[in-house]
Amino acid sequence: MNYEAVIGLEVHAQLRTRSKIFCACSTSFGDPPNTNTCPVCLGMPGALPVLNRQAVAMAARAALALGCRVSSRSLFARKNYFYPDLPKGYQISQYDLPLAGSGQVEVWTGKRDSSGQIVDRVHKTFRIHRIHLEDDAGKSIHSPAGGSYVNLNRTGVPLIEIVSEPDFRSSQEAHDYLEHLRRTLMYLGICDGNMEEGSLRCDANVSVRLRGEKRLGTKLEIKNLNSFRFLQKALDYEAQRQIEVLRSGGVLEQQTRLWDEENGRTVLMRSKEEAQDYRYFPDPDLLPVLISQQALQELQSGIPELPESRRRRLCQEHGLEGEEALLLVQSRAFADYFETVVRQGAKPRAAYNWMMGELTRLLKADRREIDQCPIPPQDLSQLIRMVDNHSISGKIAKGVLEKMYREGKDAEAIVEQEGLRQISDSAALEEMIDTILSAEIAKVEAYRNGKTGLLGFFVGQVMRQTRGQANPQLVNRILKEKLDQS
Ligand code: ADP
Ligand code: MG
Ligand code: ZN
Repeated sequence: MNYEAVIGLEVHAQLRTRSKIFCACSTSFGDPPNTNTCPVCLGMPGALPVLNRQAVAMAARAALALGCRVSSRSLFARKNYFYPDLPKGYQISQYDLPLAGSGQVEVWTGKRDSSGQIVDRVHKTFRIHRIHLEDDAGKSIHSPAGGSYVNLNRTGVPLIEIVSEPDFRSSQEAHDYLEHLRRTLMYLGICDGNMEEGSLRCDANVSVRLRGEKRLGTKLEIKNLNSFRFLQKALDYEAQRQIEVLRSGGVLEQQTRLWDEENGRTVLMRSKEEAQDYRYFPDPDLLPVLISQQALQELQSGIPELPESRRRRLCQEHGLEGEEALLLVQSRAFADYFETVVRQGAKPRAAYNWMMGELTRLLKADRREIDQCPIPPQDLSQLIRMVDNHSISGKIAKGVLEKMYREGKDAEAIVEQEGLRQISDSAALEEMIDTILSAEIAKVEAYRNGKTGLLGFFVGQVMRQTRGQANPQLVNRILKEKLDQS
């Protein structure tokens, strides 16, 4: 019997507002524990929350970029539960009337082949059920040496929860959707997308059913998947586990499970029989959120070109492969850099190769992002043009790039200063080649008697004498002419 997996994701994204969602405390990450707190986010009795307008605007921008309908009126509710890092005793979230819903995104997704490459990419539409605003809880730290600590700096940081429909049929689709969300939110500048620091968190719901079956199977939820790799591994493991339970005649019950990376499996956290009743009710301290049509239009017009449309445009305009363009749109700054290099006259293919090759290697070694790159795009463009018009060879250009990176000079300056310009003067090269050939009579004879592999030897001689600066095409041509004439 042939089963398929059915997957839905609940994604929490921290919004990059300066202050928290209901108070003026800073949201900055990594400050000393419990310093960014006040009576509101500490849940002191009588402290009144005031909604952060910037958080609403960011959430609405996200919703629009993800093809959702934004409600003109939404409502905050209290979701009551006890947790040591939730001092209020309830989370402020949206329940009956969320900020946005009925969205859909077009994701370029595929399958992984046996070597791990993603192949057979197609565009698939995945629906978004709803997007709502809520406040984050604090963070508990359980010390292996014993004892638990709580840091309430994160308490009250604004979150959006993006709930998908159960539209994914493989872990790869879920993965590609999550990447699509992450890139989109980062392009909008509203989330830093850092999964390790918890700025983006994902819970996955999985069920399985016989292929062709329309009804959904019993779903199990896997909590807190904090990397793309864990998400995929957990989904693959869990779907397979469920299939095996059903095949052996077992029954599945609703559960919440956790990914155990060490042992490569999901483990039971709680069964849904213990499901909480959160006793949602409208928060009496907060007014409904009203968004006018005009405000929405303004937000809509402020949405930049989004990564997926940019990817397609880069393919069309520059003749790049889809996967290549996907690497270029990895961040807005990276794609901007590429487009500037090309606009300044470099060929797109060369710009792509230099950026993905040498430049990325230099940046990675320093753990730098493209926006901290000491080489301005104009200068990379100049270097690429110098290779293209044979002022320098590709090999020498690599060394020049490294100098540009370390010394902050441009390509022209380094090439002049170090006398690296390629020798394309055929008269000068002919003279040098004549001298070399007359000193190597025996090898010339051997070449003419059929050992044509010796061409490489002669090229090497010329390159040695010119310290690699001779134009290799020209050297080859002159050598061939001279050796073949006899
Ligand atoms: P709950 O009330 O348990 O949170 P929801 O209906 O809100 O459940 O759905 C939560 C998430 O689970 C959504 O992303 C949804 O797409 C997904 N989901 C719902 N039913 C299934 C199912 N049978 N299999 C896989 N995912 C599902
Ligand atoms: Mg839910
Ligand atoms: Zn506060």
